[in-house]
Amino acid sequence: MNGNEKSDAFKQSLLFIVVGLLISLMLIVIFSRVITGISATMTYETTMAVKKNMLEEYVNNMIFYLEDEREDYLKLYPDAEEEEVEQILLQAARERIYGEQHGDGSYMWIQKVLDFNGGDNYAIRLIHPNLSDTEGCYLSTNEVNQMGMKAYEEELNGIKENGEIFLNYAFKKLNSNEVTEKVTFSKLYDRYDWIICMGVNIDDLDHYRIQAEEHMRAYQMIVLAAISVTWLILLFLMGFMYRKTHIKAYEKKNKELKDRLNWDAMTNANSRSFGEKQLEREFHEYKEGKKNTLLLMMDVDYFKKFNDGYGHDVGDKVLQSFVAAIRDCTRTSDSVIRWGGDEFVVILQNIHRRFQPEIGNKILEAVHAISIDELKDGDRITASMGFTYFREEDTEYKDALTRADAALYQAKEAGRNNWQLA
Ligand code: GH3
Ligand code: MG
Repeated sequence: MNGNEKSDAFKQSLLFIVVGLLISLMLIVIFSRVITGISATMTYETTMAVKKNMLEEYVNNMIFYLEDEREDYLKLYPDAEEEEVEQILLQAARERIYGEQHGDGSYMWIQKVLDFNGGDNYAIRLIHPNLSDTEGCYLSTNEVNQMGMKAYEEELNGIKENGEIFLNYAFKKLNSNEVTEKVTFSKLYDRYDWIICMGVNIDDLDHYRIQAEEHMRAYQMIVLAAISVTWLILLFLMGFMYRKTHIKAYEKKNKELKDRLNWDAMTNANSRSFGEKQLEREFHEYKEGKKNTLLLMMDVDYFKKFNDGYGHDVGDKVLQSFVAAIRDCTRTSDSVIRWGGDEFVVILQNIHRRFQPEIGNKILEAVHAISIDELKDGDRITASMGFTYFREEDTEYKDALTRADAALYQAKEAGRNNWQLA
């Protein structure tokens, strides 16, 4: 893999990571928004439910309290008139309501229903610690409050239906003139047709919600950071793996391609392009005085006759066996190159001149010994060979190759199946 391809793969991986990161960040933001929304609503609703529960409990307690007071009074004054008892209980309720103070500003009030059909003067206000000067005033179901709702009418309808009702409406806060939304619980104390109510301002609930949201936010930051880090690690791992497999696949393909370029698939000899590069290297090393290399150029004698007499396939087999025979006589460090057709160049490294004849004869014998089933007994394969070494006066490897070729020609001239040294 060269520099350009490496940087391309790197760019690809980087793009993959950056795009992945952006998408995941987007998802995290959307996800956390949704979670914040849900949890804020949940916190709000939970707080609201707790408040409503509290309102209901206070009102019920008040009714229990009044019933107890009534019982106690009747024990002392069994003959007391109901109207008298009602006045006693009203006094007890007033003392209790005015005596109680709640941190959240919630308070209780009581009105007595005079006409369950509603209308003007349908009820009279008995106790109201927030509007004490209106105690004794008549109320009307036609009254419309600041929020445009007929709260009394709605309350009376709820009472008639279920004996109790939760309501949301605008009302001024206790000991202040600020008008905010309020949630109330109203219940009928049917012994005297009193409606006992208790309410709390909603902005109080908002405060709870804001506080809860702040807690949530800190928690969210931690979760967000954890998710982001996990995603980052995951993405880098994915990118790394993606890059690795990409490079691996690329390298595999590259190797296959190189192999194809370096090898002659049919004979399993090295290709000519590989051989040219190899010769260039050998010549360079010779010029640097490192080593001298023996070059051999060889050609199958009368190869055409195998093609013509047995067919092209057998001709191929002859070439394959020819290469195998040469390999058997040479070392793995030596290169057998198919130069073209039935012509081969063999590069033999670091061979002392004295061994050259021995190698020549050995190859001649090995080629002659080749046996191919299809060939008739008399048909032996032989080769002609021309040897040479690099020389001082050579300016390029081709000079030596030309000599080897000339020696090969001499061998052909000399009757084939022999070697010549240039
Ligand atoms: P010489 O002794 O003078 O070398 O005679 P020759 O018959 O071998 O003549 P030459 O070397 O010119 O013939 C080479 C032949 O090799 C010609 C071509 O058809 C054949 N040939 C080239 N490549 C292939 C191949 O891949 N397979 C087969 N079967 N034949 C090939
Ligand atoms: Mg030939």
